[in-house]
Amino acid sequence: MAGILFIISAPSGSGKSTLVNQLRTLASGLEFSVSHTTRAPRGSEEEGREYHYTTREEFERMVAAGEFLENAEVFGNLYGTACRSLSDADREGKDLLLDIDVQGAAQVREKLPDAVSIFIMPPAPDVLATRLRNRSRAEGHVEEKVIERRLAKARQEIENYRQYGYILVNDILDRAVEQLAAIVSSERIRRSGAMVDTEAARLIAIAEACRQRNSIERLRPVLASFGLLNT
Ligand code: ADP
Ligand code: 5GP
Repeated sequence: MAGILFIISAPSGSGKSTLVNQLRTLASGLEFSVSHTTRAPRGSEEEGREYHYTTREEFERMVAAGEFLENAEVFGNLYGTACRSLSDADREGKDLLLDIDVQGAAQVREKLPDAVSIFIMPPAPDVLATRLRNRSRAEGHVEEKVIERRLAKARQEIENYRQYGYILVNDILDRAVEQLAAIVSSERIRRSGAMVDTEAARLIAIAEACRQRNSIERLRPVLASFGLLNT
């Protein structure tokens, strides 16, 4: 695609939706891809806003017809990004953001190596467990078994962090939002070849600090808390 493709992945409960919602209010010219899923709508979700809710039969037809850029099974449900999302964003001259899991991100990177990938990490397992419990409580039901399953899956997903260009640790929300917005701006500035003024240089510096290759020291305590330091 002619615009920039941003991929965001994170273990469930890390705060990805919270960050992406804030990014929506800050970044113009950025389209948010609406995925297809076979899972049922949750809470106040609406068809066409959070997802396109699809039957398994229709989803499988779309896979067979080659209509997905990527697709994967997550927590027993099927999810996919329609190729259409890309062509629509292209036609409108917009950048596109995909909120997809690590399996889908790997498929997209393979097809579109220019994509910018961002992985969001929770600061530690106990913080993640608290966020998952709080969110479940707000939705009206806390199931410890589900929390346990999500924590185990989080650890597996975090193991894939090296496949991402940028890493955010969602500890202090405002800082993580600033970093996410800086990554978007910095990639735009870099690719446009525009002059770098003081403000642009500040944003580029914030983004550079989030590059995976510059994040080893910052990530050490997080990885240690998940028991992943030597993997
Ligand atoms: P995800 O989309 O990654 O599953 P959510 O955005 O739903 O996660 O966030 C999970 C819970 O954590 C929500 O209740 C949200 O309000 C809270 N949360 C998100 N980011 C932070 C943060 N930096 N500090 C404290 N709580 C947060
Ligand atoms: P949820 O059901 O909680 O909204 O999302 C569960 C997981 O599915 C999240 O990790 C989310 O990023 C991922 N996901 C959502 N849409 C897609 C998609 O189109 N493709 C892939 N591979 N994963 C997706």
